[in-house]
Amino acid sequence: MNDALAALLRTMPTLPAGHVWLAGAGPGDPGLLTLLALSALAQADAVVHDALVDRRILALARPDAEKLFAGKRGGRPSVDQADIAATLVALARAGKKVLRLKGGDPYVFGRGGEEALALAKAGIPFRVIPGITAGIAGLTAALIPATQRGVNQAFVLATGHGADGDEATGAVDWAALARFGQPIVLYMAVTHIAAIVRALLAGGMAAETPAAVVSSATTPGQRVLVSTLAALPKDLAREQPATPAIVVVGEIVAMRARLLALLPELEREAFWHAG
Ligand code: SAH
Repeated sequence: MNDALAALLRTMPTLPAGHVWLAGAGPGDPGLLTLLALSALAQADAVVHDALVDRRILALARPDAEKLFAGKRGGRPSVDQADIAATLVALARAGKKVLRLKGGDPYVFGRGGEEALALAKAGIPFRVIPGITAGIAGLTAALIPATQRGVNQAFVLATGHGADGDEATGAVDWAALARFGQPIVLYMAVTHIAAIVRALLAGGMAAETPAAVVSSATTPGQRVLVSTLAALPKDLAREQPATPAIVVVGEIVAMRARLLALLPELEREAFWHAG
């Protein structure tokens, strides 16, 4: 390690006893962890993590740190959100240095906001450390630029959870997103993909719009399925990609094929394959 890196790590803030840091662990590859999250792992007495955090990242915790799993997978409420918040509050009140480690960015479809509110209501001091969100890292890792000059001027990050209208908070206006004409990146969308595709087609999005599914992005198991909007439900049903997966719909997807046509080894060169 060069001196500047060692010095930089020494200047990272201290995680005080009785405080909670709510940190993002990134999309999967340990190389995509931030230095702040790394320094928090080295300091924490208790690490409360969810299912998407790689065990190579958890292995960076202090050997004597208490590790608590508070995960949810595929919408199954394995641990109640209120219980997670209560655990964080109890650990902080017991004087622990608490790290709450979540996949991606803690404030992107991760219920980080709810946990922050619960901590604030309980008077527990906390800090939020951003992480690289799967919706952006997943595209990059699949050779799909989130924005490309001349192709798109915006992109939408949306959740497909509750797309069948079962979510009390109300569903996304898919027709409005179709009219917006910009790429859409979907988290938690595989279960409801048929309903989402129907709604986007009904909203006027072209059936042949390129689409892709990136599963286990930035991990050695990463897979990319390229399709079109209309063919997506059938292709997904046939290929059954692993979870977690993000779905992207829009012209930016075409860049992947353009790059691979020019340099096929790009697919193998992906940096996370070393893991
Ligand atoms: N806070 C997280 C998102 C949590 S919601 C973030 O910012 O990334 C969980 C959803 O994230 C999954 O259903 C999936 O859509 C997506 N996701 C998380 N990690 C992923 C990965 N490595 N590859 C593909 N999708 C991923």
